Amino acid sequence: MDFSLSRPKPHRLKPVLLASLLESDFMSAPTTTAATSATCANCSAPTGGAHFCPSCGKIQPLPRGTDFFSFFGLPQKLTVDLEQLEQRFHSLSWKLHPDHFARASDDERQLSLDRSSLLNDAYRTLRDPVARVEYLLGLAGMRKEGQKKQQAPPELLEEVFELNESLDELREARASGGTAAAMAGLRAKLEAAQHKFEASLAAVDQELARVSAEWDAALDSGADETASRKLMEKMNEVLNRRSYIRNLVNGVRQELAES
Ligand SMILES: [Zn+2]
Repeated sequence: MDFSLSRPKPHRLKPVLLASLLESDFMSAPTTTAATSATCANCSAPTGGAHFCPSCGKIQPLPRGTDFFSFFGLPQKLTVDLEQLEQRFHSLSWKLHPDHFARASDDERQLSLDRSSLLNDAYRTLRDPVARVEYLLGLAGMRKEGQKKQQAPPELLEEVFELNESLDELREARASGGTAAAMAGLRAKLEAAQHKFEASLAAVDQELARVSAEWDAALDSGADETASRKLMEKMNEVLNRRSYIRNLVNGVRQELAES
């Protein structure tokens, strides 16, 4: 962790990205369900975007614009029934498993691989409440790291200054062979900072849960685009704050582990 040590300079922070997700094609895919008009290449029956043709049972190509939510047949809501998600995951994992397609055509085998791979990504993302929000915002092109991410949240500014000073002292003491008592005192300071930041992280997680619930309620009540965007901007801001605080927690943990 690369902490900047002087008081006026903010930390340099590594962006917390779901790199694999953000690079995925699905992030930029439109969220409309053009899928529902798809028909089966084998029997021409309408598939409704299902994994398998409801008429002949053949595995179907991934419709354009398939996102993680629609893959699981879920609305784009942030409250997810984890038990149900897990059941669907296991059931689909079994149905889509490439072993079942050993005697199928190359095309079908490839489709099973494509769907299995998407299944795993979708499950990993949707089961995690933070990744879920990141993903939803990414779909809408509303996930913006921005410059604010590099700045300490105002309510933590003083603690961040103090942390930088403690880290500075600790490193100096370490380099110059500080006394055991001095080192113990510095460690205690860092541990206190760690608890403080962990509490902040828990608070920001609760805040994210509250805004997520607001999002779901807005979706249920058919909120207009302005209201939706506003909620997404709020979620984006909370995510940035969360990412900053998480980096602080990890940084202090790492520093304590090394001292
Ligand atoms: Zn069919």
